[in-house]
Amino acid sequence: MNSLEDIAKAINNAERILICGHIMPDGDSLGSVLALGSALEQLGKEVIMAGPDPIPQIYEFLPDKQKFRVGKPPESNYDTLITLDCSVPKRLGSEYCDLPGQGHLTVINIDHHSGTNSFGQYRYIEPQAAAVGEIIFDLLELMQIEINLETAICLYTAIATDTGSFRYENTTPSTHRRVARLLELGVPVARINMRLYEERPRAAKFLLGAALNTLSFSTCSKVAWMTVTRDMLQAVEAGDEHTEGLVNYARGIKGVEVGLLFHELADSGIRISFRSKEFVDVRRLATLFGGGGHARAAGCEVGGDLKKIRHEVVAAAVSAAGGKAL
Ligand code: 5GP
Ligand code: MN
Repeated sequence: MNSLEDIAKAINNAERILICGHIMPDGDSLGSVLALGSALEQLGKEVIMAGPDPIPQIYEFLPDKQKFRVGKPPESNYDTLITLDCSVPKRLGSEYCDLPGQGHLTVINIDHHSGTNSFGQYRYIEPQAAAVGEIIFDLLELMQIEINLETAICLYTAIATDTGSFRYENTTPSTHRRVARLLELGVPVARINMRLYEERPRAAKFLLGAALNTLSFSTCSKVAWMTVTRDMLQAVEAGDEHTEGLVNYARGIKGVEVGLLFHELADSGIRISFRSKEFVDVRRLATLFGGGGHARAAGCEVGGDLKKIRHEVVAAAVSAAGGKAL
């Protein structure tokens, strides 16, 4: 593990930089990539921001979003790769995950997931950080790069989304101090929060209705889950991105400790989102199925039969929650 000073030095030595976040990008991933990328452009660096998946509609208000290139890794020459919010190379996506292993690149890994097998010549991994956006905020201060309103909006979005709008236990006094600074720069919080948490296309609201109809509970009532199939998405003309946040409806039920969402993907894989309320470490649960994440929010992607997988995952969650049987 390096210090933030080491990271600043490595970035100062870089000339052409590729900055990447994770697949199916969320607010922390996108906000951090766009904030760091734009700030380094101010320093005169040549910066490419890229990833395999498009920007979900709810993040379309992010300034400079058009700078984010969607698709395969760009051809152009870069000497440095900065990965943000990725605990393992796999999270970069299948076309990007080999990049950290390429000898000619300086790889700088900035993350806030705890885990053992990290990567990159330079690593700054701070599980105490509520969001990678907090680390980027500190890095820009250290590098004495001025945070303009556009960058402030990106950092606010990163921090607000990974703290569930400052509701989760990762929210600290210094989270609020950083965010206070961002608000002083003029971040329009009401407008952003309407976009992040309320306004959705009709299809997403109908998908919520359909997903709630699948709500199921373990006998012990501590585990609740919902399922979104391809047929359900098609029926309401919703996209994969419209499943974001659905899992919170399962967790948010009185008496439930673990909420799960099973989301059938187009390529026959299944994405599973795990959320817990107070004591179950869902990162450990997700790790059992090849994924990872944080203690209260984690995920994985698995192949195979939906019913069988659901049965196995629910059984593991029930056991972790201290319930007796399904
Ligand atoms: P979500 O349920 O929103 O997709 O993911 C919640 C959190 O779990 C993410 O912020 C990320 O930290 C982590 N996560 C989700 N999917 C994966 C995965 O496939 N592998 C790993 N290592 N972490 C994941
Ligand atoms: Mn994050």
